[in-house]
Amino acid sequence: MTALSGLLLAYLVSPALAAPGLDFTLHTQGPSANGALLVVAGIQGDEPGGFNAAALLVTRYRITRGKLWVVPNLNFTSIIKRSRGIHGDMNRKFAALPSDDPEYGAIERIKRIILAPDVDLVLNLHDGSGFYRPVHQDRHHSPRRWGQCIVIDQARFNAPSYGDLGGIAGLVADRVNTQLYREEHKYHVKNTRTPEGNSEMAKTLTWFAVKNGKAAFGLEASKTLPTHLRAYYHLAAIEAYMALMGIEFRRSFDLTPAGVKQAINDDIRLALYENKILLDVARARKHLRYVPLKKGASIDFEASNPLLAVTGNGKSYRVSYGNRRMTYLHPQYFEYDDSIDKVLLHIDGKAVEASLGTVVPVKESFIVEPVAGYRVNVIGWRQDGRRDESGVPVLGRDLIRRFSIDRDGRMYRVEFYRGPRFAGMLLVNIGPAEELAATPPAGNGALDG
Ligand SMILES: [Zn+2]
Repeated sequence: MTALSGLLLAYLVSPALAAPGLDFTLHTQGPSANGALLVVAGIQGDEPGGFNAAALLVTRYRITRGKLWVVPNLNFTSIIKRSRGIHGDMNRKFAALPSDDPEYGAIERIKRIILAPDVDLVLNLHDGSGFYRPVHQDRHHSPRRWGQCIVIDQARFNAPSYGDLGGIAGLVADRVNTQLYREEHKYHVKNTRTPEGNSEMAKTLTWFAVKNGKAAFGLEASKTLPTHLRAYYHLAAIEAYMALMGIEFRRSFDLTPAGVKQAINDDIRLALYENKILLDVARARKHLRYVPLKKGASIDFEASNPLLAVTGNGKSYRVSYGNRRMTYLHPQYFEYDDSIDKVLLHIDGKAVEASLGTVVPVKESFIVEPVAGYRVNVIGWRQDGRRDESGVPVLGRDLIRRFSIDRDGRMYRVEFYRGPRFAGMLLVNIGPAEELAATPPAGNGALDG
């Protein structure tokens, strides 16, 4: 059984649905009081390598020494809208900005975070075009390109620590270059020489940081690469910075292209109304219908991942995960009943107590133990003349596949009602035992690193 509360870091998002934008989130981790590494991603909404890497830092890394701060979704609204910037390029707003700019508030907030005394070093994650090379090779491999490099504004500056920007960037590039998937992906250091009159770069986040005495670097992965491979290189570079700063961690996946891909695709879960409902949307069908939402209240959810957003108007809601649109929720509205949070099931012949808002693995069959006063509805299962579906064996193979919430036809809703009121839901995940064992629940997976 996996509850959302079992995830490494669940956090609460209460979207004000009438508001024009989604606020970015700051996630802090680590025992130490100072010397934080600040990782910022999603300043441009169409660079998923960067923001997926940063989200994994939040959900899949546990800091055991030092301190890590992560803003994975700086331009959250543009990320959800799959736009570079719905209000222009946010990375040109760090010099002068009129106070009526729609992003003025967000820029002021991230500036304060960068300037926080705790922060020692700042990384701004990007996905850039082609492959940066110091010397022109061809159109896609040239000094004009941005992919696969560490960007610095100047070689060194006066700072108590980490002032040797060029030297540090060189060490990080060297370390990433020991982890290349292909020789073409080689990292270099790109110096934009910002203080020598580069007026465009003078408007960026990194220059704002350096100007204010904070070491800062742009990390660029190539847009030529698939998202998970970009995220892989970003994480390789970030781990090199962590090593340099003495930050230690455990990570719950293998830092390989395949490991990163799986981590990005797994465990995308929404808990609604304090765990009354858990929806695993990682492989959800495009539309989920008759979702029992709370009458007269705005949708209230907790997300397993900082790139998850729920937007909509009450008639239907879109669930987005970064640039991806995972599913649409079509609600049916109910009064809620709060009288139970646990139920008893017999799963493959074994009695199991399950909390509402969890996923329960089932091999072949289950029986929901009847509770007086409550009615059970297994969505996708029917027996003529029966209104309450507790107390009878439900065989996995009898469930009607089109009612599953996932495209694979494995995950089904079991809903509890007390009279006309909705009392909660859990999911049963039908599958062979060995497959279930191969995908450990989020947060309980073996940590390595
Ligand atoms: Zn960018």
